[in-house]
Amino acid sequence: VDIDRVDYTPSEDLAVEHDDFARALDEALSEIEDMRDIVRDRFGPEFAAVFHVQIQILEDKGFVRNIHQAIDETRSARDALQQVLETYRRTFERIEDPYFRERGTDIEDVGQRVMSRLLGVRDHLEPMKRGSIVVVDQLLPALFAQLEMDKVAAVIAEHGGQTSHGVIFARTLEIPAVTGATGILEEAREGEGAIVDGATGTIYLSPDDALTREFEQAQHQYEVAVEHLDAMRERPAETLDGHRIKLSANAGLLADLRLVEKHGAEGVGLFRTELLALAHRGFPSEEEQGQLYQRVVDFLDPRPVTIRTLDLGGDKGIPNIGLDDEENPQLGCRSIRLMLENRRAFRAQLRAILRASVRGNLRMMLPMIGSLSELREAKGVIDEVRLELERDGTPFDPALPVGIMIEVPSAALTAPVLARECDFFSIGTNDLTQYTLAVDRGNERVAHLYDPLHPAVLQLIQMTVRAGRDADIPVSVCGEMATNPLSVPILVGLGIGELSGTPAAVPVVKEIVRALDAREVEADARAALLARTPAEVHAIAATRLRSAGLVEHPDIGGWLGQLLEDALGPV
Ligand code: PEP
Ligand code: MG
Repeated sequence: VDIDRVDYTPSEDLAVEHDDFARALDEALSEIEDMRDIVRDRFGPEFAAVFHVQIQILEDKGFVRNIHQAIDETRSARDALQQVLETYRRTFERIEDPYFRERGTDIEDVGQRVMSRLLGVRDHLEPMKRGSIVVVDQLLPALFAQLEMDKVAAVIAEHGGQTSHGVIFARTLEIPAVTGATGILEEAREGEGAIVDGATGTIYLSPDDALTREFEQAQHQYEVAVEHLDAMRERPAETLDGHRIKLSANAGLLADLRLVEKHGAEGVGLFRTELLALAHRGFPSEEEQGQLYQRVVDFLDPRPVTIRTLDLGGDKGIPNIGLDDEENPQLGCRSIRLMLENRRAFRAQLRAILRASVRGNLRMMLPMIGSLSELREAKGVIDEVRLELERDGTPFDPALPVGIMIEVPSAALTAPVLARECDFFSIGTNDLTQYTLAVDRGNERVAHLYDPLHPAVLQLIQMTVRAGRDADIPVSVCGEMATNPLSVPILVGLGIGELSGTPAAVPVVKEIVRALDAREVEADARAALLARTPAEVHAIAATRLRSAGLVEHPDIGGWLGQLLEDALGPV
């Protein structure tokens, strides 16, 4: 709502202005209470915290009194509200501490909500029906805290690439998502039927009956295949010659953990902690994080879980931490860099993770480490926090493994040095690809250049694996590549011991691993490292999957065949 452009004529009667404001306040309050309940039920109580803060603001006597006073002065409820919000905004902007500064955004948020009620602006969206397709400009992670995702059948975004965080969240929740659909906001009409094919990225608006039937059938086949595979979830991921690969899943919500179990993942190889911060629009407190991590660890115990420290910035901005005006956010104050600048928030998270470490099988992972000095600085903070906990007598596991993500080329190139000072490596191929190929992972215009199977990326993976082997620390891959069928033979061939990706893809990866021979894929990996183009690598991988008989697989053969045909051309 552009408030300056909405007509508002105050009543002659001042009492009416006071009453209208009071009613708007009540309505806003009950709206926020409803949202709080929905989010709490959907994702867990810690995600609802932002709404508690907003409710507190609306119930704050000082805030309400200030507005009533301003109504007496301005004789207009709208002007009064606007004036008070502006004063609060300026006050909060001057606060140095980012945690308190960002509470200003909450005031602004609730203020806008009251204003909309006062002006009688109604949400023009109908309540969402089950099976809705959501069309947005950008698929931002915060959407997942705002929408009833269980009613969403698919998401289409006008902009964005295939590996943005919003897409990853959608994939984890098994919601088909198509991004970079130029013109879709113009073309799609509310209430219009559509088919979204997440596998090919095709959208059919107003499909006819025959097409609808065809897709309904395909969807049914897919569901049957998933059911078959899930029923075999206890089988190990072992190659024909007995080489064992650990298959884990990535998660970021409590709701994802159910999928980890359903699809037979052996643990969580990457727990992304950003969603809590995004839902809060700020750094979450130690208590809120602690509750979440403990529930995650408890749920999975005795299976292992790797919790990653906050990876904010880049495409996961939160307000009021000074990231808004960065020209190159992906190269800016992102991830570990941001946390090292915000020590208080970093320490709160480290304390929460360490405290959860007594409860189960936990590892801690630092994202986007680019140099030894950065690793040492971060580990220095961890040591300080350990001492602090020891002093308070708070229990934690002193042997909690601390590892790093290898997702910047400088880290892969200096992996032998880093390996000596950490307990494990996990290769974040989403970013490693972005930074190696200089291709923004969220930009659809360069999406055709983004390819983790580029020989340059493979060289860096190989260096990392070797460094890990020499230092005797485990090396996993936790980027989306880990669960891409074409990548599996190459990664196994390169000597990766653990693959962690989308939960729903775990059974498919397992079928692939079980059809491979470790020595054969080692030879494939050697050939891939010498390949001149990504296309040559695709061909090597596709040939292997085909000769392993996977195209004849009763459950996954159909669509895998299609995928291989695209990589290789028809037989
Ligand atoms: C990666 O970069 O590969 C990764 C797993 O981290 P994220 O996708 O959260 O940046
Ligand atoms: Mg990353």
